[in-house]
Amino acid sequence: MIRTDVLIVGAGPVGLFAAFQAGVLGLKCELIDVLDRAGGQCTELYPEKPIYDIPAVPGCLAQAWSTACSSNARRFAFPMHFNERANGLAEIPARRTP
Ligand SMILES: Cc1cc2nc3c(=O)[nH]c(=O)nc-3n(C[C@H](O)[C@H](O)[C@H](O)COP(=O)(O)OP(=O)(O)OC[C@H]3O[C@@H](n4cnc5c(N)ncnc54)[C@H](O)[C@@H]3O)c2cc1C
Repeated sequence: MIRTDVLIVGAGPVGLFAAFQAGVLGLKCELIDVLDRAGGQCTELYPEKPIYDIPAVPGCLAQAWSTACSSNARRFAFPMHFNERANGLAEIPARRTP
């Protein structure tokens, strides 16, 4: 079982950015993705497509952008669990502090 402050399901661009923000906030974070690598749709579906709607980025290939998102997230060295699917959510009682 993973015990962490933030568990992110999906290592696409949104999950990677969320992980980066968790790191900025000083939270512990782990990511899981059913695929064998990070990047989501940008990496899997259209890595060679130029994208132009990222703020402050005049234009770049989708793969370059998802690699940049991944590099930012990896600065915090959070564990990333690949080939793992989240099948549901369950509430776990909070641990009591003595
Ligand atoms: C052909 C195409 C072109 C596009 N062009 C643009 C564009 O030019 N500009 C633009 O802004 N957007 C574009 N988009 C949309 C953009 O790709 C998505 O908005 C973006 O990928 C969403 O990011 P995300 O991280 O939320 O999700 P995704 O990229 O979909 O990543 C989600 C990740 O979660 C994982 N996952 C899902 N369910 C589970 C589970 N139960 N357990 C574990 N892992 C799970 C998936 O494997 C995946 O890696 C395009 C989309 C397509 C298909």
